[in-house]
Amino acid sequence: MIQFLMPTRVCFGENAVIENAALFKAFGKKALIVTGKRSAKRNGSYDDVLKALEMLGIESVLFDDIEENPSCETVDKAAAVAKAAEVDFAIGIGGGSPMDASKAIAVLVKNPTLKARDLFTTPGLEAIPVIAVATTSGTGSEVTQYAIMTDHVDQTKKNYGQTVFPEVAFLDPKYTYDMPISVTINTAVDAFSHLGEGYLGAKASPFSDSLAEKGFELFAACIPALLKGEVTHEDRKSLMEASTLGGMVIAQTGTSLPHGMGYAMTYNKHVPHGMANGQLFAAFLKAFKDQSKVMKMLNKMGFETIEAFESVLKQLIPVTVTLTEEEIETFTKGMTSNQAKLKNHPETVSDEEISGIYKQSYGA
Ligand code: NAP
Ligand code: FE
Repeated sequence: MIQFLMPTRVCFGENAVIENAALFKAFGKKALIVTGKRSAKRNGSYDDVLKALEMLGIESVLFDDIEENPSCETVDKAAAVAKAAEVDFAIGIGGGSPMDASKAIAVLVKNPTLKARDLFTTPGLEAIPVIAVATTSGTGSEVTQYAIMTDHVDQTKKNYGQTVFPEVAFLDPKYTYDMPISVTINTAVDAFSHLGEGYLGAKASPFSDSLAEKGFELFAACIPALLKGEVTHEDRKSLMEASTLGGMVIAQTGTSLPHGMGYAMTYNKHVPHGMANGQLFAAFLKAFKDQSKVMKMLNKMGFETIEAFESVLKQLIPVTVTLTEEEIETFTKGMTSNQAKLKNHPETVSDEEISGIYKQSYGA
């Protein structure tokens, strides 16, 4: 049985926020705006949202202290601000971190007795409406039901277990024009890994595959620019399209081994999210017993072999971290206990195969 659900209205293009400002009206009279520390104020996205709200007479309160890979503690702090201000809806502006945080906060406002960590174990909760304004081209969080929080109790990153899709996703490539090349590459590789894990995943369908195949084409066309470090505005638009397509894909399929294995690298080794996925990806591809769909994916991007693609990934994101045998063992245990991610992979994988992927990617 195939199901396909993507209930978010997507507004993509130049001046998406201002030109579609009227859409905010439906969600209430007071908004919580959720951002990271700096970028939203620098790239114009925060100003555009404020202007749109002012035009409609909607009040707002700002929480601008979301860190990368947001922690449950930060989400609780922001939820307290939102509850005290009695907001009607939340607007997440930024990369995946503020957008994800805004979803978790929206659930906590609707369920005021709960704390962020309760979300992991209490599925099916309602939320106040969420609007997402993406400023990186990576996570696709603007069109997914997921929110990843850092749980310092379990010492890892986890999906919050709720299904809150943003009501509206605003995507304006101009917010990404001044993004540093390192963030551009890491987030682009995250977008690719969503497309790839979805396409090769157990829940792939003709509907999600058609989106993924368009995403591969857009991503592959930008590889020369990413390698050169000279990314045009047209490339930035393509990367944003690829990223949103990746989000639409994983909203159906979920992610699998690279994401599940990469969380340990981010939590313990401070490797940025997209970088970790990309560093694990070639070994993940080699682990497939049935290589037919892997080859189909690579061919769509103009590669004949895994090694040719691996060499591009290595140039884009050189590996600078090595893991000890002990670390590989611990991280492997973490992955093999993550049933949600394992079941999204279409083949059975042994502990040895998981530790083999870590070894190939990060072995001394
Ligand atoms: P991020 O953590 O949101 O941001 C990374 C850095 O980029 C921050 O320093 C941020 O600065 C900066 N930044 C953001 N937009 C910028 C711009 N336009 N120009 C310059 N700098 C900018 O990065 P991300 O990779 O987008 O998100 C990663 C998070 O999303 C992880 O927690 C990951 O697990 C999660 N994720 C979620 C999904 C999902 O479906 N929900 C999927 C994949 C990953 P400021 O802090 O100042 O804003
Ligand atoms: Fe991701």
